[in-house]
Amino acid sequence: MTTQLDYARVTEGPDADGRFLAGFTRPMDISSLTIDIQARGVQMDGPIEQRVGGAGPTDLGMLWIDGYRVTAPKAKPEDTPYVLRAEDDGYGVYLGSTRLASARTQQRPAFYDLTTADGIPYEQIALLHLDSLASTVVQTCAYWGNDDQCTFCGIGLSLDAGRTIVKKTPEMLAEVAVAARDLDGAVDATLTTGSSRGVDRGARYVAKCAQAVKEASGLPVEVQFEPPLDLNVINEVGDMGVDSVGIHLESFDPAVLARVAPAKSRTGMEAYFAAWERAVAVFGEGQVSTYVILGMGEDPKITIEGAKRAIDIGVFPLVVPLRPVAGSLMADWPSPPREYTEPIYRQVQAYMALRGMNAGTTKAGCARCQACSGLKSLEPAPTAVPVTIGRGPTSLA
Ligand code: SF4
Repeated sequence: MTTQLDYARVTEGPDADGRFLAGFTRPMDISSLTIDIQARGVQMDGPIEQRVGGAGPTDLGMLWIDGYRVTAPKAKPEDTPYVLRAEDDGYGVYLGSTRLASARTQQRPAFYDLTTADGIPYEQIALLHLDSLASTVVQTCAYWGNDDQCTFCGIGLSLDAGRTIVKKTPEMLAEVAVAARDLDGAVDATLTTGSSRGVDRGARYVAKCAQAVKEASGLPVEVQFEPPLDLNVINEVGDMGVDSVGIHLESFDPAVLARVAPAKSRTGMEAYFAAWERAVAVFGEGQVSTYVILGMGEDPKITIEGAKRAIDIGVFPLVVPLRPVAGSLMADWPSPPREYTEPIYRQVQAYMALRGMNAGTTKAGCARCQACSGLKSLEPAPTAVPVTIGRGPTSLA
């Protein structure tokens, strides 16, 4: 099988950050591997917990690869050379017979087997994405099913499939958050919502849910919503104890935004910047993030310039590859290859580093987790020290 990577089995030493993988020469380090796996996916040698449909990471397996959180699509042999193989203790990522990295999978969370007093399975209220509890608190959107529907989105699909309920109450979410913390080690909560046509765009309700989750469980919480028509709503969200917010533009390229998210395009990029500025004033630098989806036909230069402008005002641009949602309007689009995404990640990450912004900056939510992005794996690893076990080096994170 051919790949664009250097698979020579020689181990000469670590990369500039002190990280390397047994079996690879330069420049294949853990960053390139995780980014490549995000793009191509991984073959699974057995069942692993996989999320199907919805508004967040979807149709994906969730892994830790050498300690990095990674969402990895399950792929066929013709699409990916990487195989996840069970070992005596955990898993390994293999290329042929060469073991590239250690891996851990997410097992089915224990709280999924619980139900509320009125019989609703916890699993229909919130899911565990690695170590983050995630829920779409209102599973409908004003744009769904009409000309404004975001083409990459799948918010209505999991509802149609009966995998979730249309509206979660603060009480339900609080109950599930405590169980997810106690039984499965959830460390934060990520709450999103479909957009409404109200002045607040749904922000007040998702923040009310966050407040209940935080009061019950003590977990830090991120909420995600569209720019409210009245920016004072953002202050109200802050007053409710929310830690971090996501206000997602999705693409800095205006032509792409108009094609993939017509309603967001009408809101306009400057309205996003105004909302972000207010949110940074309320929540602090690095606590405000936006998804930036790669692989939708955008101009990379415009994308990087937009990300830099966001970083300049303290907004975390969470750059992710398009992962087409089965059943969405972009279901037939391919995911972008590593050769496209990695240079963009590198430029954005370098600019973030100049501003002192990194994965540790954000208290809760997608920008803390980053399993869907290659950004975190590119951060310098200050504690990484190359070590040698047996005859060859082993990988460090
Ligand atoms: S605003 Fe777009 S991405 Fe968000 S839920 Fe609605 S359709 Fe989906």
